[in-house]
Amino acid sequence: MKRILVAGIHHESNSFNPIIVGEKDFNIIYGDEIFNNLRKNDSMTGIIKTLQQGGYEVIPTVFARAVPNGEVDYDFYTKIKNEIIKRAKSAKKEAPIDAITLSLHGSMRVKRQGEAEGYLLEELRSIFPNIPILSSLDMHTTMTQRMHNNCDGFVGYKCAPHTDCFETGEHAAKMTIDTLENNRNPKSAWVKVPILIAGEQSSTNVEPMISLMKALKECEKIEDIMAASYLMGFPWSDNEDSSVAVYVVADGDLKLAQREAVRLAELMWSKKDDFCFHTETYHEEKALDVAFNGVKKGKLPIYISDSGDNPTAGGASDCTNFLKLIMSDRRTDNLTKPIIYGGIYDPIATKQCEGKVGKEITLTFGSKFDTITSSPITTTGIVKSYIKNWSRGGMLKGDLALFNSQGVDIVIAEVHVGYTLPEMFTDLGVDPKEAEIVVCKLGYLTFPHSLVAKRSIMVLTEGSTNEDLKKLDYKKVKRPIFPLDRDFNYSALNNLIEKEG
Ligand SMILES: [Zn+2]
Repeated sequence: MKRILVAGIHHESNSFNPIIVGEKDFNIIYGDEIFNNLRKNDSMTGIIKTLQQGGYEVIPTVFARAVPNGEVDYDFYTKIKNEIIKRAKSAKKEAPIDAITLSLHGSMRVKRQGEAEGYLLEELRSIFPNIPILSSLDMHTTMTQRMHNNCDGFVGYKCAPHTDCFETGEHAAKMTIDTLENNRNPKSAWVKVPILIAGEQSSTNVEPMISLMKALKECEKIEDIMAASYLMGFPWSDNEDSSVAVYVVADGDLKLAQREAVRLAELMWSKKDDFCFHTETYHEEKALDVAFNGVKKGKLPIYISDSGDNPTAGGASDCTNFLKLIMSDRRTDNLTKPIIYGGIYDPIATKQCEGKVGKEITLTFGSKFDTITSSPITTTGIVKSYIKNWSRGGMLKGDLALFNSQGVDIVIAEVHVGYTLPEMFTDLGVDPKEAEIVVCKLGYLTFPHSLVAKRSIMVLTEGSTNEDLKKLDYKKVKRPIFPLDRDFNYSALNNLIEKEG
């Protein structure tokens, strides 16, 4: 039985967020435990199931992932990488390894080091110079030279929101199997497209992404094309690699991969002006005016995304500016239910609510991590509920408090979680379906929230996921890049980047 090593690291690191991410922020699963933690919409699950069904012995090593956040601590990253390498070496000692299939995100950045995935791939390649290494990626991968040099082929998600993670893992596993059994010889082409683009403008349910994804799928129908991906990069990371990329893998024919990658890159560039927000988008005061006026029309609840501090895109999740504005707005007195606000990441304030359910307390919370964008809130209110060790959908475990003050039910969280599930609110005893206004630190609404929302508004707020990229202080991003720069010419052919070494 052929043996295939698998490993995974998933993180999107926001360099504008001052939090340094470490062990406590990650879910880390080791060895066989990975088999007991398979989830439905997950690339690692797609990889493992496909390989096992193909009759392979899967050697699991480490699977580490966290909600997007700040950059990752160097010692922690090194520990995880060394653990993967140690397990890989010991598996190799037992019996030969025939291939490696990885589940990577591709936009993890490490303090003092820079890229994360490239160094892992480089080390694996040095231990296993002659076996196929293939990997699935998130759509928001930032491709790097080191990643390109040390992997035989990547394939990224084709759906945003990411509903095709399993299928992408399956695709990476099939490329591995094809390489091992069917004499396929993956050759990869990478073309940079100098665009910074926020996820909220590149949902695949709307143009131009509908057309672009169609083009990828057409490309994958060409004989000998093994995979074609648009890797959209991650705009809230100020680094020299930040960019959109096209990545094409062809069987044995590098020229074909390059020709298709250049063609798809030109297509992307031709559509750069078509990227825009597809939800109602306003600045802060206007967003509240629209929401309060909307309440009178009765199609409820109205959702507002506090998009500048979105933890699912690596925001600190403790900026208070928009919450302060809501709390100071007396139109909340006319609502029948408090506004639900999810939420503020503040471990200290969360714990101050413990054992106080039903009691009135004065609490200071927020702006403990991102101390630049806003300042803490001090207010008196009632602790309405408290949950110990809350977790759903594989989220990091931590306590949650629901604190009511000035017409707002505020979720305060002990850990850095995404406000992606309505169940977080119902678990705390408030039902978003019955509220008039629900505010989440999100960009576009997640699918579960979209089922509840009768109207969705995005508010442009300050913070490390500011949707107005021109307001961010980029220092390292290679210029020119759209939309920071507008008047420059682009040739995909001149941006075709060959493997080195
Ligand atoms: Zn993504």
